[in-house]
Amino acid sequence: MVRKRLERMENLREKVEELSGQNVYACYQCGMCSSGCPLAEEMDLLPNQVIRALQFDDWTVMEANAMWVCASCLACEVRCPKGIDLAALMEGMRQLYLRKTLDHVSIDGMSREEIAALPQIALVASLRKKTG
Ligand code: SF4
Ligand code: SF4
Repeated sequence: MVRKRLERMENLREKVEELSGQNVYACYQCGMCSSGCPLAEEMDLLPNQVIRALQFDDWTVMEANAMWVCASCLACEVRCPKGIDLAALMEGMRQLYLRKTLDHVSIDGMSREEIAALPQIALVASLRKKTG
């Protein structure tokens, strides 16, 4: 069901640009963002590959884990010769995903024990980042 909704997503690049305030076409694929990203090893698409996919309106980028792994540390923006804020792009993609599909985490799906054991600040941050 989620995949079908994603497949119907039109003008992906324009929507992410609108939400993030970034110009996706400004990227010329130098790779500086990916080489400096502390979480690149955990991503199934590197930050520069994410932006490349957006340039082509490739909706499969919305299935990658990169936007959920990104910690918004801004290391990529500091290194980017074009000043592209990839953290804002990832945030825009998360917003779009959550609007189009379902919440990525659900507090109803957690047991009382899990909620008690989780660091509260991490729980609140996760709910803010991964729910609509
Ligand atoms: S550092 Fe900037 S220009 Fe280079 S690949 Fe990353 S987003 Fe594109
Ligand atoms: S903001 Fe996200 S994509 Fe950019 S360096 Fe940090 S974790 Fe990587």
